[in-house]
Amino acid sequence: MLIPAVTVPFPLSWGFSTRLDLAASLPDRRLNQVHRCGVVEASDAVVEGDGIWTTSPGTRIGVRVADCVPVLLAGKVAGGKPWVAALHAGWRGATGHGDPAPGGGILRRGVALYQSLGGDPWNLVWALGPAILACHFEVGDEVISAARLDPAWQDTLRTEGSAGKAHLDLHGFLHAQGLDLGLDPSKNGSVRFCTVCRPDLLYSYRRGETTDRQWGWIEIG
Ligand SMILES: [Zn+2]
Repeated sequence: MLIPAVTVPFPLSWGFSTRLDLAASLPDRRLNQVHRCGVVEASDAVVEGDGIWTTSPGTRIGVRVADCVPVLLAGKVAGGKPWVAALHAGWRGATGHGDPAPGGGILRRGVALYQSLGGDPWNLVWALGPAILACHFEVGDEVISAARLDPAWQDTLRTEGSAGKAHLDLHGFLHAQGLDLGLDPSKNGSVRFCTVCRPDLLYSYRRGETTDRQWGWIEIG
């Protein structure tokens, strides 16, 4: 388990699982993830969505990923109540591409939801987890075009690989969005491991592991 190294605002368990972790430490599956931007409150039902949140202590929630970026958020909402969320952000989720609802990518929507509950973005503790990093994330032009529409886009997030194809720094893109949303850089506990570079630790869809996933998970308490 990879645990974000950052001070937490209330008693909290969280982390990014690896292939070495046993299923017993992982959350129940509550989301049917579809690479869009829906963020839902955790319930006992399995529902369609790519982000999940709760204010209930003892409810372990999470997202399953194998190259996409798992994003964990923790902060206090109105009345000082603890709030946590886990988001699944591939390039579609991070940009909002293909999701007709307004509000941009899933990190923007997750933080907006937190604000709607009375939370202050500056007080959020945040962590992006292991994902395919720029070293391996070769993408088509449509991906770069979608990312360029975001106000936090910077041209340095696009690099060129040895084959002359574009590579996207999806981690860096989400980080830039976080800062644009008013998150505090000193409360960032991100773990930057590349899923393709680390077969010893991590599952990677691009490397051919199409069924197994790691979790980004979080629990109040
Ligand atoms: Zn890599």
